[in-house]
Amino acid sequence: MRQIAIYGKGGIGKSTTTQNTVAAFTSMGRQVMVVGCDPKADSTRLLLGVKSQHTVLDLIRERGEEEVGLGEVMRQGFGGTRCVESGGPEPGVGCAGRGVITAINFLEDLGAYTGDLDYVFYDVLGDVVCGGFAMPIREGKAQEIYIVASGEMMSLYAANNICKGIIKFAEQSGVRLGGIICNSRNVDNELELLEAFCERLGTQLLYFVPRDNIVQHAEINRQTVIQYRPDSPQAQVYRELATRLEQNTRFCIPTPLAMEELEELITRYGLMD
Ligand code: ADP
Ligand code: MG
Repeated sequence: MRQIAIYGKGGIGKSTTTQNTVAAFTSMGRQVMVVGCDPKADSTRLLLGVKSQHTVLDLIRERGEEEVGLGEVMRQGFGGTRCVESGGPEPGVGCAGRGVITAINFLEDLGAYTGDLDYVFYDVLGDVVCGGFAMPIREGKAQEIYIVASGEMMSLYAANNICKGIIKFAEQSGVRLGGIICNSRNVDNELELLEAFCERLGTQLLYFVPRDNIVQHAEINRQTVIQYRPDSPQAQVYRELATRLEQNTRFCIPTPLAMEELEELITRYGLMD
């Protein structure tokens, strides 16, 4: 069982990319569980066809831990994927990361990590690698991290910060960066910029996902592209990404950039013809 955490700036496409990749994996016959670690609880919507109404934290809060069964928090999604949302506290109250800790402990106690699983994906909120949001990597649950980024400055800034967070936990938990996934925003020289960024970090650009409106069309239908248009080029993109992930053997402790260096890199590629 490979346990994989997906990090990246909010809105960059973590949940979309994760679910499409997971849908590709199930169509390749793999058994996958997705654990949404974002209080927004929208990490499994495209796989389930509905927004999950039953987050782990909600149910435990309502009834107490003893009264909640695994079948209530783990729902079957597209292709038999197992979908869980950790949920979060009421807005403005308490640590938003607590749901992640509670959810993972709960799933372990109830035996959700069965031997037949090939992959567990943690879709983690935004660019905070602190508190509960570090849980999947801090406690050695996930051994691999992939960062979703684009050529936009704030997304690279977030990716670089996440790498700083990885360093903190890498030694004690053994977690490693498996690469960057570019989710394109059609920035000038984006591929070259991301390749240079990855090289400087000591990692690889695992895959370049083009921007395509079919992703939104599928989303409006509450589906992944794999389900909505399995024969489209974008569906093929996600299948290739899944294959790259499966075949990946390159893992590292990244070497983050100093702020001036990062800005210099972005400027250099941004101004190139
Ligand atoms: P995150 O989980 O990182 O906050 P989401 O996965 O929710 O981000 O994505 C944000 C928006 O970007 C969604 O509306 C999604 O449809 C869109 N999106 C993501 N990837 C692509 C893509 N490759 N092409 C077009 N739109 C995309
Ligand atoms: Mg998300």
